[in-house]
Amino acid sequence: MDFNEEYRQFLSVSKTERTFTDNSIKLAEEAGFVNIDSVKKIKKGDRIYSVNRGKNICLFVIGSQPLTEGMNILGAHIDSPRLDLKQKPLFEKDGLVLLDTHYYGGIKKYQWVARPMALVGVVCKKDGTVININIGDKPGDPVVGISDLLVHLSAKQLEKPGRTVVEGEKLDVLAGSIPAKDEEKEPVRKYFLELLKNEYDIEEDDFISAEIEVVPAGEARDYGLDRSMILGYGHDDRVCGYTSMRAIMDMKTPKRTSCCILVDKEEIGSVGATGMQSRYFEQTVIQLLEMQGFEKLSDVSRTFRNSRMLSSDVSIAFDPNYPEVMEPKNSAYFGKGICFNKFTGRGGKGGSNDANPEFIAKVRRVMDDNNVMFQTCELGAVDVGGGGTIAYILADLNMDVLDAGICVQNMHAPYETVSKADVYEAYRGYAAFLKDMD
Ligand code: MN
Ligand code: MN
Repeated sequence: MDFNEEYRQFLSVSKTERTFTDNSIKLAEEAGFVNIDSVKKIKKGDRIYSVNRGKNICLFVIGSQPLTEGMNILGAHIDSPRLDLKQKPLFEKDGLVLLDTHYYGGIKKYQWVARPMALVGVVCKKDGTVININIGDKPGDPVVGISDLLVHLSAKQLEKPGRTVVEGEKLDVLAGSIPAKDEEKEPVRKYFLELLKNEYDIEEDDFISAEIEVVPAGEARDYGLDRSMILGYGHDDRVCGYTSMRAIMDMKTPKRTSCCILVDKEEIGSVGATGMQSRYFEQTVIQLLEMQGFEKLSDVSRTFRNSRMLSSDVSIAFDPNYPEVMEPKNSAYFGKGICFNKFTGRGGKGGSNDANPEFIAKVRRVMDDNNVMFQTCELGAVDVGGGGTIAYILADLNMDVLDAGICVQNMHAPYETVSKADVYEAYRGYAAFLKDMD
């Protein structure tokens, strides 16, 4: 319960990859980690973090063995589905000012209307200054949101398939309605622009170089009368990110170097400089190898070949409301511990990292030796759907990788649910893996 309360508070203020990264840096520094840019040489027990473009963080606790003997790696992603403001978002229509969005990741669009939303992100000005935006979460803040059609006039809308009940171009955020005084042309837009200028020092053109995410407003909450669960925005996959990060923060001097990599862009294919496919991780490990006196290319490949990884992402919690999409024997259940997926993907395991049983056996041993409760599962029944993770990308470096994680209900909805017991067991499982995997 105590651990989960810390997670609940962290999640409530970490609604974007950037804010997650910023808050992680604070925790890491409190736990004695130092920025890699201030480090010249490394020795066992050193605690180091590296940040990539403010959206992607990597932590290391240097082991007593040389890096080339391999690392024990925990990975997760810290981006979540949401609505992003477009680069030209602002328009006035029928006396209202609206902000146009483009959704990010896989969402059921009808879930994102008629609810309080916050605006979180950055506006980057031409002179190099960066304005942090965070409106809607502090007590007394205004919120924004997207309107939904009243049920009284929805007869036609409700006949549409779910996919088109609310269409992507209709996800426009209502942001204001006061007109500027004595203004003939678009007075509400004029008033809104003045407000942006006065309160935030933002000009309309600055949206071109902005990244503002429209996310559910408000805190994550204890769920259930017994408070056994947490309902919150962005458990996928910050719940695995947070628990992995907490596990590495507990490490003292391991035998094998501990690593925790938290990446962006998983929800859109792990692309870009801050996604898992980026060379950033490799570059950071090379930086560490150089600080340990290794310089050959073969040292790099040896390090990865000898490494082992738990690639964590949320799994699907069995939902009694929708049993038909699951296969009960191979499903994850709330309260039964950390999940291991031998494979993910869709169809005939397409797009998955199908973990080696030799490696899975070692993971089982480590979990059992440390009394960690675990379960195994698939992402739904065969041919119903599926999903991917970052596991196969790390496996490309020729290391052993197993998909792990915490199961959630209503994945990708504005509010997702996890079991506190699973959150805690995952944290314990990650700590055991860092400590005892060899
Ligand atoms: Mn996801
Ligand atoms: Mn995920």
